[in-house]
Amino acid sequence: MNMKKQRSTKQRKLVLDTVQSRHDHPTADQIYLDTRQKDEKISRGTVYRNLNLLSESGDISHVKVPSADRYDFRLDRHYHLFCTNCGKVCDAPVPYQEARDKQIEQETGFQVSRHRTIFEGLCSDCQKRLTQEQQQ
Ligand SMILES: [Zn+2]
Ligand SMILES: [Zn+2]
Repeated sequence: MNMKKQRSTKQRKLVLDTVQSRHDHPTADQIYLDTRQKDEKISRGTVYRNLNLLSESGDISHVKVPSADRYDFRLDRHYHLFCTNCGKVCDAPVPYQEARDKQIEQETGFQVSRHRTIFEGLCSDCQKRLTQEQQQ
């Protein structure tokens, strides 16, 4: 393996480790800032490119939410909660409903690989904060 190849393999591993170490669905920018702590020479472009490669290869997953895309260490299919006030993304504690995929397939003939669900609303921290603000 040549030096350049070795460096890019190392960088990809570093980006992967960073995503796997965070369980809060970070943005690409947050991953870039974390990665910079461990490798100060890594560029934003390299981090973004590796995030795309890792998503394509299925080593990480990515969640599309109304603001910036988020990255997820979890590879199993699950739903998300998105706080429209602070942008927080959490996992929804309900099982993935495979029956819905089957139902759509039977009714439309469409071959469904998966569905994605994002529940939008206010997280408990934001609800508390907003209530406090109203009382002041
Ligand atoms: Zn919130
Ligand atoms: Zn998730």
